[in-house]
Amino acid sequence: MYSGGVESTALIQHATKWGHNIDLLHVTHNRSSTNEMASAKLMGNRLFELQLIKPEIDKHLTDKHKDVVMWMSGAMMVAAKGDYQEVWHGKHSMDPGLPSIPLMTTSWNAMMKILELKTKLLAPLHEYSKRAQYDMLTPYQKSCIVSCRGGKYDAPCNKCVKCQEFKQLVEDVA
Ligand SMILES: [Zn+2]
Repeated sequence: MYSGGVESTALIQHATKWGHNIDLLHVTHNRSSTNEMASAKLMGNRLFELQLIKPEIDKHLTDKHKDVVMWMSGAMMVAAKGDYQEVWHGKHSMDPGLPSIPLMTTSWNAMMKILELKTKLLAPLHEYSKRAQYDMLTPYQKSCIVSCRGGKYDAPCNKCVKCQEFKQLVEDVA
């Protein structure tokens, strides 16, 4: 699962290091991922984009939800169509989503059972901090990261939540 950020880019590096053959899946929400898709193309792996375009749903159903529902359903669909041993998603050691991992695994495995597949859902680098994962990247990969909600990989705004998180968990960590 490729979002453009530190953790998913670290997964690319991790896969490269261990010689895994990977495809990237990026879920684009309401055509909002121009910058992330641009950076995904720089990575050089086969890249799938799943576009979720749902103006009527968003107009009438306005409750907030966790992103996991979008990327995990997309990952299930790609796993169903392909021949994958594992699906990886990016997490870091201080990620607020960590406690959900066992439930995600249960949910994933239930769907794989329905699909009669053995594909596993894993977050191989979840024990590493965001900074440690950033340090794993090549200079080129670092230059491609999108850690900004609105900006491009080469021009972060330095103001949004994503930029603040990057500053706090990567730049300010000695
Ligand atoms: Zn920003």
